Amino acid sequence: MALERTFVLLKPDAVARRLCGEILARFEAKGLKLAGMKMLKVTPELSKQHYAEHVQKKFYPQLEEFITSGPVVALVLEGPGAISVVRTMLGSTNGRESALGTIRGDFGMSRQMNLVHGSDGPEAATREISIYFKPEELLSYPTSLDPWTFAGDEV
Ligand code: UDP
Ligand code: MG
Repeated sequence: MALERTFVLLKPDAVARRLCGEILARFEAKGLKLAGMKMLKVTPELSKQHYAEHVQKKFYPQLEEFITSGPVVALVLEGPGAISVVRTMLGSTNGRESALGTIRGDFGMSRQMNLVHGSDGPEAATREISIYFKPEELLSYPTSLDPWTFAGDEV
C-alpha cells in the first residue's frame, strides 16, 4: 500500500451548513494528514474541468449551479491508501441511501448536495490536485504521531 495523496472538496452545502470542522475532524481522527487546504469559489470553468466526465450528463447544469453557488474548501489528504479510505468514509453518492457512519450517510439527505467530493482513483487524484493546487501549496512534514498511525511496512 503506497502513501497516497487524494483530493477532497468540502462542497458549498458543507460550508453553508457549518459542517467543515466536523467533517475535517473525521479525516484527522482517522489518521489522514493534511497536505493542503484552501477556501475558494469554484467558477463555471473550474467546474467543467473538475467534472469533465460529467459535463455531457443531464444533471450537469444543476451540478454546476450548485458547486459554483458559494465558497468551498479544497483539501489534499495524505496517508496509506488515502484515496480509497476517503471514498469509503464518504459513502455512496446519494445521502439518503448512504450507510450510517459515512459522512454522506450521517449528514446528508440529497444526491446532489452530498457535502464532500473525493477522488475516485489515482489518476483522478493526480488530475484534481493539479487543478486546484500549485505544487508549492502542498506540504510534507513529519510529525511525532506518524509512527503511531501506521507501521513502516504499510507504505
Ligand atoms: N450528482 C448529481 N445528480 C446525479 C448524480 C450526481 O447532482 O444524478 C452530483 C453529486 O454532487 C455527485 C457529483 O455530481 O457527488 C458527481 O457525481 P458522481 O456520480 O461522480 O458521484 P461521486 O463520485 O461524487 O459519489
Ligand atoms: Mg465521481
